[in-house]
Amino acid sequence: MDKPDASRDGQKQGDQSSEDLVHLSDTQVINILERITGGFVAIDHDWRYIYVNHQAEQLTGIKREDLLGKRVWDVYPEAVGTLFYQKYHEAMRTQQSLSFEDYYPPGQRWYTLHLYPSPEGLSIIYSDITERKRAEQQLLFHANVVQSISDAVIATDTQYTILSWNKAAETLYGWTQEEVLGKAASDILWYEFPYNPPDEWKEHLQTRGYWKGQVIHKRKDGTQARVMASVSQVKDSNGTIIGAVAANRDITEWKELERSKDEFIGAASHELRTPVTALKGYTQLLQRTLEKQGLRDHAQTLAKMDGQLNRLTKLIADLLDVSKMQMGKIAYSKAVFDFNAWVHDIINDIQQASPHHVIALTRDTQCKIIGDQDRLSQVFINLLTNAIKYSPKAERVDVIIRPVSDIVTVSVRDYGIGIPKEHHSRIFERFYRVTSSPDNTFPGLGIGLYISHEIIQAHEGKIWVESEEGKGSTFFVSLPLAQDE
Ligand code: ADP
Repeated sequence: MDKPDASRDGQKQGDQSSEDLVHLSDTQVINILERITGGFVAIDHDWRYIYVNHQAEQLTGIKREDLLGKRVWDVYPEAVGTLFYQKYHEAMRTQQSLSFEDYYPPGQRWYTLHLYPSPEGLSIIYSDITERKRAEQQLLFHANVVQSISDAVIATDTQYTILSWNKAAETLYGWTQEEVLGKAASDILWYEFPYNPPDEWKEHLQTRGYWKGQVIHKRKDGTQARVMASVSQVKDSNGTIIGAVAANRDITEWKELERSKDEFIGAASHELRTPVTALKGYTQLLQRTLEKQGLRDHAQTLAKMDGQLNRLTKLIADLLDVSKMQMGKIAYSKAVFDFNAWVHDIINDIQQASPHHVIALTRDTQCKIIGDQDRLSQVFINLLTNAIKYSPKAERVDVIIRPVSDIVTVSVRDYGIGIPKEHHSRIFERFYRVTSSPDNTFPGLGIGLYISHEIIQAHEGKIWVESEEGKGSTFFVSLPLAQDE
């Protein structure tokens, strides 16, 4: 029995299948061409369409019956002379395959094309890449926007490794983008304590999603840059945090200007203090003399003048405090004192000068604190006078003292104009005043709360506000209680 010849059989099977392939190829190729995602057209040497697949029909919007047999340049006369025209001719002339991408202005679309010349003519596979191009252009536009921003824009991943660094960052810090990419932002920029609080900003960023504050950064040449930094978390479309972006502004010059301004305010208020003190002395002397002479009316006018001089003295003292605080030159002399009795005394003083309002005090248990009584008095006098000043139509101010565990909190509540929410975080800034209310004609410089905030901070305490426009405000101050020996 003849054994089947495996090799011949294999050969035969192989021949069979390659024949099948050849045999099937026409149908298969057509099937493939009809199913590929790109447009496919075949053109003869006379530039006439000899094959147009389904996708090409879709892309051109012209039925293949209307294309077959027609010359390309008759169907698209506007394409003559374009890059498409040149490339088609080049491929046909050189018999070399080539690929290119171009914008086709008449159709306002982008295409990618692969040209395959053959003895029969030219086969072209092409697709519409307009969406991808638009996305790329948008990305490029955004990248250019970031590059053009005058703030230093630095993007990092979640580990604060630098991923992008714009032109302004190069100017501000002296490092080029190439030098810093992939490096830890803290190695490049960050001075540790005492220049900057350690990691405070990271905590804020993680809990609130942003952080804004003044910091001192280092430049490539080792010098310091004073910077106003705004850092935000970057999230992907699912809300997952994928990094952080900082917009940093060089405020070195601005800080310098601020310093000169503070020095000027300090010097001016210092110079004003002496003549005002002298004026006050003469006024009081004259008042007493007139009273002795029985000239009551004149003496009363001088009493009013004295009152105005007191206001002036207070303003000058506040301005002097602001400038000292800015330069860190305020000294506090702290001692233990009875908190409730002290608040009671302040309320009595203010009550006498403001008969229109009733200041009601709710006291809890006795408590003691350590602090600079004069400076803390400034805070409560300011809160109480503000409560009265900003509630001209109300008749009541409530003060509550609450010691809880090792902290005492005092609240000053008024029923006046209130403060819109957007101003809450800013009213403790220097010279900040709320001016939105049309009837806000209250006098002031916007420094009382700034001074209060500084004083409370120097006592390791907190000051904050809760308020609603038109419904009044409550200012809270919390201070640590003195520990019993
Ligand atoms: P000033 O009262 O001199 O303007 P402050 O620093 O004491 O300065 O207050 C800052 C700003 O906060 C005020 O201008 C005012 O707009 C607002 N403000 C302070 N206290 C109150 C209050 N009790 N009610 C409403 N607004 C207030």
